[in-house]
Amino acid sequence: MGNKSSKAKRQLIVKLAEETYFTEDEVKKWYTGFSKDCPNGRLTEQAFYKIYQQFFPKGNPKKFASFVFRVFDEDKDGMITFEEFIKALSTTTRGTLEEKLLWTFKLYDLDNDGYITRDEMNSIIDAIYQMLGPNIVDTNDDDPVKRVDMIFTHLDTNKDNKLSMDEFMVGSQQDPKIVAALSLYNIHNNN
Ligand code: CA
Ligand code: CA
Repeated sequence: MGNKSSKAKRQLIVKLAEETYFTEDEVKKWYTGFSKDCPNGRLTEQAFYKIYQQFFPKGNPKKFASFVFRVFDEDKDGMITFEEFIKALSTTTRGTLEEKLLWTFKLYDLDNDGYITRDEMNSIIDAIYQMLGPNIVDTNDDDPVKRVDMIFTHLDTNKDNKLSMDEFMVGSQQDPKIVAALSLYNIHNNN
């Protein structure tokens, strides 16, 4: 923030208002908050985790935060810039269903090979349960293995035990229950 001229800052805000679902005023507000928390303009994984910790004080969001960090950090340099931050926030809060699902696919595809395996899905769901903590988990849906089974039964149409982006997008868009089971929207919307 400090070494950014006000003209450059203004240009960045205009550009990001064009590229996201936020207005210039909203981008400006987020920019101010981001700059306060990250005076050097970079959000580290540790700082990112601390934000999650505030929202989930009873659980352990470490694993989930590190998975989400991966997706926010688009150029994979280990830091989230304001631009990366606001774009991810725009997609996860105001994106179309398709944009949200694409984003979610990237989150679940931990090794970026273009497929979601059962192991990858188990990892994410386990991370969500750890984050929510014992008190908040919905009791009629307390079995992560069953949840993964349900998702695969619906989405894995060629039964090869992994989900391609096509299977994931087509199946999720047909079935709102799947979108709910992916559960990330709830988490983000509650924030
Ligand atoms: Ca980055
Ligand atoms: Ca994968």
